[in-house]
Amino acid sequence: MTDYSSLLTTIPGVKHGFGNKSALLPAPLQPFRSTLPEKKQVHGTRIVDVHQPAQPCGEADGFFTREPGILISVLTADCLPVIFSRRDGSAIGAVHAGWRGLLDGILEQMAKRIRLEDETANWVASIGPAAGACCYQVNEELITRFQQELPFSPELISPTHRHLDLAAIAQAKLKALGFAAVDHAGSCTICTLNHDPELPQHFKYTSYRRNSHRREQDPSHPGIKGRNQYSGIIITG
Ligand SMILES: [Zn+2]
Repeated sequence: MTDYSSLLTTIPGVKHGFGNKSALLPAPLQPFRSTLPEKKQVHGTRIVDVHQPAQPCGEADGFFTREPGILISVLTADCLPVIFSRRDGSAIGAVHAGWRGLLDGILEQMAKRIRLEDETANWVASIGPAAGACCYQVNEELITRFQQELPFSPELISPTHRHLDLAAIAQAKLKALGFAAVDHAGSCTICTLNHDPELPQHFKYTSYRRNSHRREQDPSHPGIKGRNQYSGIIITG
């Protein structure tokens, strides 16, 4: 089952979805695949204005458009996809935010882009499936960096020893940036099981972390290249 945001579902004239192993690109977005911008995600903070279908965007981790008929999306496998829409459906955005992007301020860059001619209070955001606080263990230094650099409680950043809560951090940032509403779609990419008996996959999502562990035990196990899930949104008018 593809994950959808209840917030974005209520917005007129836009289609969106968060992919998983059984549908990397959600079915409602598949007819628009050829309009996807060409880009290389680099865990950076650059946001590109998209004006043309299949626009070459270079290295970029965030996309913004007011143009109907252009699908914008980010590819993830444990990193956090965040999809944005103006409440009237007249403008949309998408960002790829791993821990690096969150620390370096990609959500702030998207807010800055919106504020060039608008207010974030006219926008909503939806946080998609990513490595959850249940599974996302990192080193102590990284937890400390987050706790020192961000103005949130240590428990919000790390509810369990050495586990990072990417979604809670993103949500706190989006609220602080003035977005009208924020919701969550999907669940942990590392541990969520697939409950559809028709499908052969054991896990619901592609996970970089889980795949890396498998490859450590069995170097012949395939990598995740070409298997990242798309989170996307398009103005259909
Ligand atoms: Zn988990």
